[in-house]
Amino acid sequence: MIYLDNAATTPITDNVLEAMLPWLKEGFGNPSSVYSVGRKSAIALNKARALCAEVLGCQPKNIFFTSGGTESDNHAIFAAAEKARAVGKMHIITSSVEHHAVLEPLRVLEKKGFRVTRLPVYDNGIVRVSDLEAAVTPDTAFVTVMAANNEIGTIQPIDGIGAVCRERGILFHTDAVQAFGNMPLDTNSVDMLSLSGHKLHAPKGVGLLYVREPASLPPFILGGSQQSGKRAGTENVAGIVGLAEAMRAAAEGAEEKRVKLLAMRERITREISKIKGARLNGDPERRLASNVNFSFEGVEGEALILQLDLAGIAVSSGSACTSGSLDPSHVLLALGLSHDEARSSVRITMSDLTTDEDIDGLLAVLPSAVDKLRYLRGISL
Ligand SMILES: *Cc1c(COP(=O)(O)O)cnc(C)c1O
Repeated sequence: MIYLDNAATTPITDNVLEAMLPWLKEGFGNPSSVYSVGRKSAIALNKARALCAEVLGCQPKNIFFTSGGTESDNHAIFAAAEKARAVGKMHIITSSVEHHAVLEPLRVLEKKGFRVTRLPVYDNGIVRVSDLEAAVTPDTAFVTVMAANNEIGTIQPIDGIGAVCRERGILFHTDAVQAFGNMPLDTNSVDMLSLSGHKLHAPKGVGLLYVREPASLPPFILGGSQQSGKRAGTENVAGIVGLAEAMRAAAEGAEEKRVKLLAMRERITREISKIKGARLNGDPERRLASNVNFSFEGVEGEALILQLDLAGIAVSSGSACTSGSLDPSHVLLALGLSHDEARSSVRITMSDLTTDEDIDGLLAVLPSAVDKLRYLRGISL
């Protein structure tokens, strides 16, 4: 199999699995227990937290482990909203290309009386800091804008957004699930930041939320006193140890990975651009090195994915197939694409495990698959 859907999930690497295994076997103790098998788990947990903090350039107390990116985004948004409501601030600013883990909580808050401004991303998929400045009002409670987009890989001006927010005392959350390990990230420019393990070779079901000032926010989940009482529940020790190891490895190999993937991205982009009626979605430069997203005129993205799957190649499309619907992606529509153009898109995403042979395999099959699908629909360009 040629796996080119790393924005959907990534395989667990050997170093991560090995780091986790002891905590799934003999190290099964509850980290809140006082006897030795429990204390060992607590020590592993503390070490993992310290490692994550070191990688992010913050203190261990700023890190809250969660069940993944979705939970982190929900907590950041609902906690920020509760804090805001307490002081009567009811305005939220976001972008029009956020992940559903951000879009849906905001939709609920809108129903509860908050006003949400969704910044445009123009045809390159990037928000403008000047638009943010113009949207800010004295009523603005917080801003949530992703660091990098999951569909088109575009990189948002997080430092600029952070500077505007800090100047005006507005809380700033960023979903950095796709960005982490794929681009430099500075926690100094944000107040909260979401990460997910399974997008960086750790297991599914573990993630974290960085919070600059945890004391200023209400608890995320109520129960026991774990994680300073902010996110109750017995910690997923093995998953957290795996996440920490994955973050360590990602930070260590980041620059090497970026250089390698940039070359692959440019090669794929150059070759696919030669196909008639192919068009790159999102900014060609200001995007993750791991992401390529193309629309193919006259082709159904879903059909193309199935064709590639027959050849053992896994990529994904711009329609929300996860929900079983064929609604075109809100991200591609936000770029100004028509429904047909959005439905004709395919996303190719790489990881540090991707090889030149994988790309050879993709490029050997893709042009003829596009031709075949057009032929079947009687379309010639
Ligand atoms: C995958 C993803 C999420 C959700 O993370 P989970 O760990 O799967 O819940 C959130 N935001 C972005 C940008 C993502 O790519």
